Amino acid sequence: MSVQSMIERWVRPEIRALKAYHVADPGKMIKLDAMENPYTWPEAVRNEWLSCLEAAQINRYPSPRPETLIDLIKSEMNVPDGADIILGNGSDELIQLMMLSMQGGAVMAPTPTFVMYEMTAKFVDMPFVSVPLTADFDIDLEATLALIESEQPALIFLAYPNNPTGNLFKRDDIEAIIEAADGWVIIDEAYYAFSEDSYIERVLNYDNVMVMRTVSKVGLAGLRLGFLVGSPEIIEEINKVRMPYNINVLTQMSVQFALEHHDILQAQAAELCEQRTSLMDELAQIDGFQVYPTQANFILVRVGEGEALPIFEGLKTRGVLIKNLSGHDPALQDCLRITVSTPEENAQFMQALNATLEVIRG
Ligand SMILES: *Cc1c(COP(=O)(O)O)cnc(C)c1O
Repeated sequence: MSVQSMIERWVRPEIRALKAYHVADPGKMIKLDAMENPYTWPEAVRNEWLSCLEAAQINRYPSPRPETLIDLIKSEMNVPDGADIILGNGSDELIQLMMLSMQGGAVMAPTPTFVMYEMTAKFVDMPFVSVPLTADFDIDLEATLALIESEQPALIFLAYPNNPTGNLFKRDDIEAIIEAADGWVIIDEAYYAFSEDSYIERVLNYDNVMVMRTVSKVGLAGLRLGFLVGSPEIIEEINKVRMPYNINVLTQMSVQFALEHHDILQAQAAELCEQRTSLMDELAQIDGFQVYPTQANFILVRVGEGEALPIFEGLKTRGVLIKNLSGHDPALQDCLRITVSTPEENAQFMQALNATLEVIRG
């Protein structure tokens, strides 16, 4: 039997129909496509981190529940007393663990949103249902409540702020969804460091809310650590599906070290928020560009009709990688997403953008 016929015989058709998650190879390009923090640490701090890693016992399995790290996360992230947390290999793993723990019901999220909710639902064979956001990227509450009623979703994901639109949904809409849902509502706060609002301190005010965060967007994307906050009872259930050693030794030690220097990460986030304002102003001045409000470390821009791909390609030729969202979702026609970076990289981006526009607009 050929490999191809074996695949057709054994691999689930919904998996065969998927495309593997595509990540562009940045080479030496300026990377403004993946919401990474461009800043590194001062040399002295970096050296301190490296000497801390000397104590790593890589011949031993990592702690299945690193209590010191968990306590530090709780205190640094304002997790309320009485709530528990579970660590994941990135929040991507937590999304999967939540889905693996649930029976029946669907996974629901407004769209466009973070693609991993739908992808992971496919992996675990749960139906994914969604309601399109309004033209302003707000929740269409009436349609959402109707779908909650008809589908009884086990899990509803609300990215807060939303990726790729950047906005915070209205609190009243979120409360109405929480109220109406029989299942859990997960507030995904991947961009908490750049946002003015959060549910983390209020997570226990509701019976059916969990808050998810990650350290990826604040400068530790390479370490892969996310965490989920909720009532101890539900966290205990989800914890049963977790592979015991999902967070490796180097990640445990490095995140602990980074959170002991949380002020550095927070200062970098504050700097990026300032850069965000300048970059938004500059983009808004370009003819035909519509810049959307954002509470994240990226900016969504709607460019002129048919311009998204030529701009994306023109920037790439000039050494800048951004994300072209046009064609992904009807609501994102002609949209580009740009990660906010250092003043230098933002300036290089603007220069490349202006040069590109000169060519394509003549
Ligand atoms: C980037 C992102 C994540 C992924 O986080 P990891 O911890 O790196 O897996 C989760 N949710 C949203 C909304 C994101 O944009």
